[in-house]
Amino acid sequence: MTVRDVSGIPQEANKVGTGKKAAIITFGCQMNEHDSEVIAALLESMNYCHTPSPEEADLIVINTCAVRQKPEDKVSSLLGKYQELKKEKPDLMIAVTGCMTQQEELAAYIRDRFHHVDLILGTHALPRLPSLIAMITEHKGRIVDIEEDYPDREGLPISHSSSFKAWLPVIYGCNNYCSYCVVPYVRGRERSRSLRDILNEASDLGAKGFIEVTLLGQNVNSYGQDLAENVDFPDLLMALNDKSGLKRIRFMTSHPKDLSDRLIEAVKNGDQICEHFHLPVQSGSNRILEKMNRSYTREKYMELINKIRASIPGVAITSDLIVGFPGEEESDFLDTLSLVEEARFDNAFSFLYSPRKNTAAAMLSDQLSAMVKNDRLKRLNEIQHRISKEMNHNLLNKVVEVLVDGPSKSDPAFQTGRTRTNKLVHLSADVDLSGKVIAVRITEAKTWNLHGELAEGIK
Ligand code: SAH
Ligand code: SF4
Repeated sequence: MTVRDVSGIPQEANKVGTGKKAAIITFGCQMNEHDSEVIAALLESMNYCHTPSPEEADLIVINTCAVRQKPEDKVSSLLGKYQELKKEKPDLMIAVTGCMTQQEELAAYIRDRFHHVDLILGTHALPRLPSLIAMITEHKGRIVDIEEDYPDREGLPISHSSSFKAWLPVIYGCNNYCSYCVVPYVRGRERSRSLRDILNEASDLGAKGFIEVTLLGQNVNSYGQDLAENVDFPDLLMALNDKSGLKRIRFMTSHPKDLSDRLIEAVKNGDQICEHFHLPVQSGSNRILEKMNRSYTREKYMELINKIRASIPGVAITSDLIVGFPGEEESDFLDTLSLVEEARFDNAFSFLYSPRKNTAAAMLSDQLSAMVKNDRLKRLNEIQHRISKEMNHNLLNKVVEVLVDGPSKSDPAFQTGRTRTNKLVHLSADVDLSGKVIAVRITEAKTWNLHGELAEGIK
């Protein structure tokens, strides 16, 4: 794959990072992690060296998340902390990017409240990062670039954080406007990458020895709808399955409203496609689902996951749930609990509803108290944690395929990896198995992970 000239700036400005160190701090989802890999590569192309320590850096880039209030608060407190750092190091450059900054009000808040921030860059302006840094280096001053102009991202370099697993965006943006969600406002309208560009990138990764890619999109099921070519997500999956040379292909996220039978068939038939659906349900109450603008009912959702389980043996289904949506009554919440019992998710991420500016739900009057929301989250988690453990128990004594990530951070005597169904597995091994695909017999099942032993040599 050819890497395009990313600078758009004079050659000498390309070298503004020479002798300097840059630190990148990332909040939020996989798309943000991927964006940070692009930011890292753009900075490398300007000769910056990476440092994990912001205190040592000449440039700090904070890649923010706006999906809930908590990550926003963390960014505010981090920016407060770096005010002191900037006093000690006046030449330190601070850039803030990501989903917080793409909102006009928040960009203005950061600009006015944190005068030590030099560059405020929305999600769309990412390709302009090098030229803006060069401009500030040369002329000093501050820049805010939150244009919603969707500059072309094809060919931007990527500094992969792993040598065998990669993120691969297939569609940017979201058109769904779930009433609680800020994403459509900060990531813009849906833009699918061309099948050819995705296939080239995947094949390139395959040729370099990568084993796994995770295809990213807010709703991968919308893939292709905005393209002139007649192609949809199952077509893309099958093309990657047949031609990329990758052993494992994952994808997230699927919206239940438009998950097709052909997608289920693709996961069933594609040997390289992992048997895992992340299928956020959000609520078990039809009344709340309608207020959330999710376009499906609880019955439709159950029908869908039953169909997936009947077609694909051993498939894992995970989900996201929101508790405390405005107007959620105890009876609605009990519907969520009963859905969780019925659906038996392998795992689910549960969130307290967090009002987001400009979204329809934030304007509803019947917001719930923190106490009610916290109590419901606790009750929901208790049930889901029990079910996660029970689901993991089903794997006891089974032999599963694991791609090893490397030594466990908490105990290097253990190697950790993921099953095809994305379950975390620990196994004791005295050699580093990073990047190896191995067979593991499951010996112990816990809520958050499995333990196992090598079953038959390394493949
Ligand atoms: N596009 C994906 C994920 C979007 S954000 C999808 O549709 O599934 C990831 C998760 O964050 C969502 O699934 C939802 O459960 C949660 N989330 C989004 N907005 C939220 C809010 N305002 N409050 C609490 N949780 C929220
Ligand atoms: Fe947000 Fe809904 Fe789009 Fe997901 S599908 S990003 S929850 S608006």
